[in-house]
Amino acid sequence: MTGDPGALAKTASAAYDAALEVIASVEPRVAEATRKELADQRSSLKLIASENYASPAVLLTMGTWFSDKYAEGTVGHRFYAACQNVDTVEALAAEHARELFGAPYAYAQPHSGIDANLVAFWSILANRVETPALERLGAKNVNELSETDWEELRHEFGNQRLLGMALDAGGHLTHGFRPNISGKMFHQQQYGTDPETGLLDYDAVAAKAREFKPLVLVAGYSAYPRRVNFAKMREIADEVGAVLMVDMAHFAGLVAGKVFTGEENPVPYAHVTTTTTHKSLRGPRGGLVLAQEEFAADVDRGCPMVLGGPLSHVMAAKAVALAEARQPAFQTYAQNIADNAKSLAEGFNSRGAKLVTGGTDNHIVLLDVSSYGLTGRQAESALLDSGVVTNRNSVPQDPNGAWYTSGIRFGTPALTTRGFGHDEFDTVADLVHEVLSHTTPGTNKAGAPSKATYRLADGVADRVQARAQEMLDKNPLYPGLELT
Ligand SMILES: *Cc1c(COP(=O)(O)O)cnc(C)c1O
Repeated sequence: MTGDPGALAKTASAAYDAALEVIASVEPRVAEATRKELADQRSSLKLIASENYASPAVLLTMGTWFSDKYAEGTVGHRFYAACQNVDTVEALAAEHARELFGAPYAYAQPHSGIDANLVAFWSILANRVETPALERLGAKNVNELSETDWEELRHEFGNQRLLGMALDAGGHLTHGFRPNISGKMFHQQQYGTDPETGLLDYDAVAAKAREFKPLVLVAGYSAYPRRVNFAKMREIADEVGAVLMVDMAHFAGLVAGKVFTGEENPVPYAHVTTTTTHKSLRGPRGGLVLAQEEFAADVDRGCPMVLGGPLSHVMAAKAVALAEARQPAFQTYAQNIADNAKSLAEGFNSRGAKLVTGGTDNHIVLLDVSSYGLTGRQAESALLDSGVVTNRNSVPQDPNGAWYTSGIRFGTPALTTRGFGHDEFDTVADLVHEVLSHTTPGTNKAGAPSKATYRLADGVADRVQARAQEMLDKNPLYPGLELT
């Protein structure tokens, strides 16, 4: 960040004070909840791997009149009048994204990660199914097709194959999971991880791809604690004629911060790369699509293909966040995220805890809590009672299913933003271990064993909370930001 941090924090304090006063004049309960949310975030150990703390500059950018503007279309080509300022911020967001990630093309309109994936799926279908069909049928666009030809094309859209990472191996709902639209619109199959090591087995992915012949091979994850070799994934895609789509929603910050380089950087290898902007990338809630030239024109049709009016205020905030991510300090931040995850994993290993894949080389640590005799649900609740905010997560071949689960997922991006380092993350491991080793499974009303109830030994929550508070006090969230 440029400028004097102390003076900027003072200015931001005044801005938030004023904003909360204006909000309170209409609905004081919203102003109150907003204040409380800051206090709660400041006083908890946020270890949710998908969350972070965006800067005041990013947050303030979202609260403006850009929210009121409709701007369907693309930069310089809108279906609404008076979009010149939206053009400015959308072009800036796209330019920063292209420069930051070294991508030939960037699309800043998706409202979220899911939207970015929908844009990617439909641009791939447009490129590989619609365009060839139109050429075959001698039509310029779908409106020119006869009812019969249109029916046939619709049928073709609905019969394409997608191969993605299984949810319980760390994949995402949008990678072909049946309850999600991706699992309904595509004929889908999933690849998992090696049952022994928990690691991605590229030969097994290749074998599955050869057999299944997907149109889309999806790589990327939400809960896999390791790096992926995207050159290998591209080789697999090329061998079977698939499009490689990489969803870097979780680890985009590590790509932006040049921690993942070479074959670990998906952008040069994927035909289409999608991401959220609010996870390790530390921007506003939103999505981005990056693409090779071949897919640029198709992604550019995200509106009206999948999206309506873009969230102009959020695109403005994406431009600010991406400008932050282009500064050298972001590379230090990203390296610290990865180093801290290693410290956390070592902290767990040295206390005898069981980690999926045995450790980490990204920002995620996945703890298998079955060694404590607990389900993920019980562990998550006991940790929350102690001020440690995590989320339960399936482990590969999880015996407790996707609801109760057997794992707890930890991520380092948020606390790294607060300034936590090696010693703090070792202490985090100690606190988690202390809570879980003092938690026992409970019973239901009928006295039978329960996967949800638990008992946390007296005094543990207070002890853990006090030790956590010491670290939180030393590493304040938004230093210098004081609300009156
Ligand atoms: C978080 C996530 C998404 C979805 O992002 P939303 O902004 O919540 O829609 C998509 N893909 C992956 C891999 C994710 O981790």
